[in-house]
Amino acid sequence: MLIEGQLADAENGEKFNVANPATQEIVDSVPKGTREDAKRAIDAATEAYKIWSEKPSIERSRVLLKISEVVRANVEGLALSLTLEQGKPLGEARSEINSFANTCEYYAGLIGRERGAQTPFSTGEGFFIVTKRPLGVVGAILPWNFPVSLMGWKVAPGLAAGNTFVVKPASTTPITDIKVAELMVKAGLPPGTVNVVTGPGGVVGEELLDNPKVAKIAFTGETATGRRIMEGSAKYIKRLTLELGGSDPMIVCDDADLELAVEGAAWGRFRNCGQSCTSVKRLFLFESIAEGFIKSFAEKVKTIKVGNGLEKGIHMGPIHTEEQREKVESMVEDAESRGAKDIVKGGRPEDKELARGNFYVPSVLGDVDYDAKIAREECFGPALPIFVVKDLEEAIERANDTPYGLGSSVWTKDVERAYHAAERIQAGTTWVNSPPIARAEVPFGGFKQSGFGRELGIEGLDHYYETKSIQILEYGKGKKWAFPIS
Ligand code: NDP
Repeated sequence: MLIEGQLADAENGEKFNVANPATQEIVDSVPKGTREDAKRAIDAATEAYKIWSEKPSIERSRVLLKISEVVRANVEGLALSLTLEQGKPLGEARSEINSFANTCEYYAGLIGRERGAQTPFSTGEGFFIVTKRPLGVVGAILPWNFPVSLMGWKVAPGLAAGNTFVVKPASTTPITDIKVAELMVKAGLPPGTVNVVTGPGGVVGEELLDNPKVAKIAFTGETATGRRIMEGSAKYIKRLTLELGGSDPMIVCDDADLELAVEGAAWGRFRNCGQSCTSVKRLFLFESIAEGFIKSFAEKVKTIKVGNGLEKGIHMGPIHTEEQREKVESMVEDAESRGAKDIVKGGRPEDKELARGNFYVPSVLGDVDYDAKIAREECFGPALPIFVVKDLEEAIERANDTPYGLGSSVWTKDVERAYHAAERIQAGTTWVNSPPIARAEVPFGGFKQSGFGRELGIEGLDHYYETKSIQILEYGKGKKWAFPIS
């Protein structure tokens, strides 16, 4: 763990192992943090806040720039560490580390450049100024699918705004987050400004919820856990940003560039082994292009090489845990039991070399019942249901028939159609002719049960501030409020 800038053990000395999902070998062990450890980190962050929040924004900006430089200089080692604990191919791991650096650079450039205004009261008595103040100590609770980039989505804007952090990584991916936090201190972040406490969500995470010194929880993970976080945060009315699950629709119209859409569907569903909150999770095809699209897509999917992410030429690593693999399998089986047909038969690979890992060959299903679990719940793995629709209106209606609303995409050459669909799909982002790619400058977040608040973009910075209004009466104009009121 990293507390007050120093590597630390749990107060009781307990540890737990982190396994490589491709081999089940132990990568390392990390401290099994307790509530006392979390309290220690919260206290360190509370002290550090007094200094960090008062630093001029230009200094915070310089530290963030230095962090991005140091992280980039260590990309190879960090990417290796990420692949070992998470399973993703090295190329994807590199891109994730670089995305952390990009996010730091983006917010380093944003602070100190905000616009402000002084506005007269409508009564003419004076004026008001709206300023922004940081919130205090933030608890960042992270998932295992993008342990590093999603830490960046939280700490970069939060630090830019003057907050300090206690980060709680997912228990299956804590190692690279600790390494990144160590580098942040090396880059000049004052000790205690970002602390990392490893340990069970039900212990370390719950302390972040229960502790009155934590002003905000920034969480990415499952919708059910998000509900618990809302409940747990209610006692002290903590600020919240919740990035939860998704069941993202991709709509391919009859005028789409089909070659591009086939690539987009493969990228969108199978990157990170299908374990992205905005992975394409339901594919809707117009009737007239369905047959041709399905044929090309099936050919494409069959070329996906599954294996250990450390090896060259691997496109898709293992599913992160055995539990997750079983969830995906049960969703595919449920769809098949309701009459779904295998367009590409997926499942556990036959290759004996892969038997130790949680590997799963991509599965593509047609004729899927709209009530199948894979259509109704979040499928967090490499299995994709395809649905054929008659037109855009049916596609939009089906796309919205879900409790989720995170991402979505529409593929067409017709700008009117694209705009019509984008305005009607109930999701935080609609990509037009693009797979789901998050960008530092674009706000990201969900509608409906996919959460609330936004990360990234200027909105992402706003969620790390309180708005403060300062009302100033002009001298001699205060008579209207003289007491008693007549
Ligand atoms: P969780 O939501 O359980 O875990 C996310 C984080 O929350 C982890 O750091 C976890 O800690 C922590 N946590 C768990 N319980 C609590 C609690 N009571 N208080 C505070 N923090 C807590 O996700 P899972 O890892 O269990 O994944 C389950 C499913 O969630 C996936 O199948 C997928 O559908 C979805 N998911 C969605 C993601 C997204 O980006 N939208 C990302 C990851 C998962 P710990 O690891 O110690 O349990």
